[in-house]
Amino acid sequence: MRNSNRQWRLKRRPVGEIKAGDLELIDAPKPVPGEGEILVRNVYLSLDPTNRIWMSDMEQYMPPVAIGDVMRGGTLGIVEQSNADGFAVGDIVIPGMGGWQDYTIGSASGPFPAQKVPKIPGVPLATFMSALGFTGATAYFGFLDLGLPKAGETVVVSAAAGAVGQIVGQIAKIKGCRVVGLAGSDDKCRYVVKELGFDACINYKKEDVAAALKRECPKGIDIDFENAGGAILDAVLANINLKARIVLCGLIAQYNASAPVPGPYNFANILMKRARVEGFIIIDYMPRFAEFAMQMAQWLMEGKIKDRVDINDGLENAVTTLGKLFTGANTGKLLVRVSPEP
Ligand code: NDP
Repeated sequence: MRNSNRQWRLKRRPVGEIKAGDLELIDAPKPVPGEGEILVRNVYLSLDPTNRIWMSDMEQYMPPVAIGDVMRGGTLGIVEQSNADGFAVGDIVIPGMGGWQDYTIGSASGPFPAQKVPKIPGVPLATFMSALGFTGATAYFGFLDLGLPKAGETVVVSAAAGAVGQIVGQIAKIKGCRVVGLAGSDDKCRYVVKELGFDACINYKKEDVAAALKRECPKGIDIDFENAGGAILDAVLANINLKARIVLCGLIAQYNASAPVPGPYNFANILMKRARVEGFIIIDYMPRFAEFAMQMAQWLMEGKIKDRVDINDGLENAVTTLGKLFTGANTGKLLVRVSPEP
C-alpha cells in the first residue's frame, strides 16, 4: 500500500511522436474520499491510441486533457475505502476514468460513474479491460451495428492483431463471413490465422496491399473495419464491392501527424460503388452496454472468442508502453499493471 499517489500529468502538447518531457510523473498526496465517494487502488490502466488524441488540441469527441492535468485513462482497481452506498472495501471496480495514477476517487454519479465488476469463474480480471470492456464493445457495436454483416460476405480488418481488431475478426467468423486481416508482422498474421481463425492475413509492411487484397478477397470487400487509415484505407477502397460498408473506427496511421494529412486518393470509389462510410465513438453506445456484455461473456465462456492481453508492469513505464501502439510492438489489448491483483 502506498502513502502517496504517483500521477502522470500532461506538461505540453506533443508534436509528432510523444517525447520525454511531454508528460511528467509527480508524487501527489494520496487522495481522501469524501461523502458518497470511494478510494480505488488502480490495478490495470488501459492504454489506447486515443490517448494521443486526448493529448492534442485537434477537433475531438471529448475535451482534450488540459495542460497540467492528470492524463486521462480507463482503469480497473480495488476499493480501499468506501463512503458510498453499494460499494465495500475489496470490491473490484471500474472507477470511471481512473487516470494515469495509483489511486482514483470514484463515485456512483457523474459522466463516468464507478461500476462494480462481476466475478465470472474462469474470466481473468484483465478481460474486463479488454473483450468485456470498451475494447470488446467497440468491436461488437462497430462491426454489428454499422457493418451489418451477412454470412458469406468478405470482411477486412486493419490492426487485426490489436485489441479491437482481434475481436472484430472473431465476431465476423461467428457471423459466417470470410475474414482477411492486415497486420504489421508475420507473427501477428500467424496469430490471427492459426489462433483466432481468420481466413487470411496480409503483412502490410511486406506486401503490395492492394494486390494482396485482390488475391485474398476474390469476391471483393463487403465490409472494411478500418482501424488504420492512410495507405491501407486507400488499398481497401480500390477493392470494395457495390454497397460496401466502411466502418470508420480509427485512423491510427495519422494520430502522430504534425501537418494536415491528405484524404484517401481512392475516395471516388465510394461514389462509384455506392458505398457507405460511417464513423462511430464507443461512448455513444454506453446505454446498450449490458446487451453487449451478456453476449460477449457467453462467447468467451463458449470459447468462441479468445482475448489476448499485453500486460506491462509499472505506472512509471506508461509513456514508453503507450509507444508500443504506434510501433506495433503490442499484440492484443495493451495494459499497464499499476499494482498487483488482489
Ligand atoms: P491496437 O491494439 O490495435 O494497437 C494499435 C495497432 O495499430 C498497433 O499494434 C499496430 O499494429 C497498428 N498500427 C500502428 N501504426 C500503424 C500505421 N501507421 N498503419 C497501420 N497500422 C498501424 O489498438 P486498439 O485496438 O486499441 O485501437 C485500434 C483502432 O481503433 C485505433 O485506430 C483506435 O483509435 C480505434 N478505436 C476507436 C474507438 C472508437 O470508439 N471509435 C474505440 C477504441 C479504439 P501493426 O503491427 O499491425 O501495425
